[in-house]
Amino acid sequence: MKYKSTRSENFDCTSAEAIKQGLSPDGGLFVPVSFPQFSIDDIDAMKNLSYQQRAVKVLSRFLTDFTSGEIEECVSNAYNKESFATESITPVYKLNNQVYFLELWHGKTCAFKDLALQILPHLLTYSIKKTKDDRTAVILVATSGDTGKAALEGFSNVDGTKIAVFYPVDGVSKIQKLQMATQDGNNVAVSGIEGNFDDAQNGVKKIFTDKEFIEELNKRGYILSSANSINWGRLVPQIVYYFSAYADMLKAGEITLGEKVNFVVPTGNFGDILAGYYAKLLGLPVNKLVCASNTNNVLTDFINTGVYNKNREFYTTDSPSMDILISSNLERFIYNISDNDSTLTKQYMDSLAKDGQYSVSDDIKAKMSEILWGGYCDDKDTAISIKDTFEKYKYVMDTHTAVGKNVCDKYLFETDDKTKTVILSTASPFKFNKAVLSAIAGEEAVKNKSEFELLDMLSEISGLVIPKSLAQLKDKEVRFGGKINKEDMKQFVSGFNM
Ligand SMILES: *Cc1c(COP(=O)(O)O)cnc(C)c1O
Repeated sequence: MKYKSTRSENFDCTSAEAIKQGLSPDGGLFVPVSFPQFSIDDIDAMKNLSYQQRAVKVLSRFLTDFTSGEIEECVSNAYNKESFATESITPVYKLNNQVYFLELWHGKTCAFKDLALQILPHLLTYSIKKTKDDRTAVILVATSGDTGKAALEGFSNVDGTKIAVFYPVDGVSKIQKLQMATQDGNNVAVSGIEGNFDDAQNGVKKIFTDKEFIEELNKRGYILSSANSINWGRLVPQIVYYFSAYADMLKAGEITLGEKVNFVVPTGNFGDILAGYYAKLLGLPVNKLVCASNTNNVLTDFINTGVYNKNREFYTTDSPSMDILISSNLERFIYNISDNDSTLTKQYMDSLAKDGQYSVSDDIKAKMSEILWGGYCDDKDTAISIKDTFEKYKYVMDTHTAVGKNVCDKYLFETDDKTKTVILSTASPFKFNKAVLSAIAGEEAVKNKSEFELLDMLSEISGLVIPKSLAQLKDKEVRFGGKINKEDMKQFVSGFNM
């Protein structure tokens, strides 16, 4: 399998090179040149496989320059008893006769990003070796909260790597901040940024396109790489759980072979939902992909009007991992639905960079509406969904998942679609305990409570056990409490133990 850029016809490379480089030299994203089909029999056969075996099947289609032994090793290093609290890795929870939750938060950091970031370091170190390179990979991450911690956990103490993580100082939850500030490992660094997520992300992008600085690092034996969701090595593992959910539902008799299902995806950078679209391209019977946003509803507007416009107010919400105005992975989707038109894709992306907006052709808009349905909800409705779902089903959702549930309800009501629908549950409710508890028990109940009192309280109300990694935060030393201006990110990287 070859990979090329979304923005020109000048490159093609192996998966190892795509994973090693992260971003294409022309500023585009790497995409596979084709999507090898899974037949209905292939999908049926997945019923009786473990998550790890399903992962090997999917990854093998795309990482053709890896041996099956290498893929198996990466998979078993990533998805195991130490890293995930459930044997099935991503269990499906049945809410009622139509709606299901795909729980993606049983990993170490309690959010879905573990699924990709537990395996990425292994894919990356193999990729560097495979391209006959002996440099140390320096991973730079801009995070709205969950990516940072998941990347730190994934890369911590992995030989041949260093990782620096930047987060918007007022844009993450207390638990998220504490998770990052207490990170172990001899190859990690973390800092807050004065600004929002897009400032942090733009700062990282700037470093990635700073030729002089890259050259200097190369001379010192380092190669810059990205663990953000633009890296192909993060996207491809996310395709697996769509197949896994389908196989589990098939096995449980919830659907029949070939029956289409909807997936509702709480969306920020458009990575998770793009993986669902790729699953559909591979042959998974997917009906609609429902794109759920919070008040930062730039994607909802785009799906409904064909105009992507980031020139709007930025809101800090109770679902901070979705507080994003530039959804980087949308570029891959545009590229694909424009029939791999790199000239047009580049034109749109240039216009986004220059004017903060672009508007797609009627053709592309129509194609997009066939595949996607977009909706959003604000913090108030998020809280109502959490409370209603708890009262009706005794099921506790985190705020991001609740945005998904709210938009799912809107979609099913407005379209009267009877298709079985799976909501991607992207974080543990314990990670966003304050917002979840004020929704269920009222604001008074959470007033003046410490993070750890809140964890206990949520455990009592929900009957769920507090995830070990969160309970342990209480006793961990804060190693990284600082913050810097966005202009100083390069200096921070340069000075980081290199
Ligand atoms: C990152 C994240 C999202 C958004 O996923 P994207 O791939 O950026 O669209 C949603 N929910 C949670 C909990 C997240 O951490």
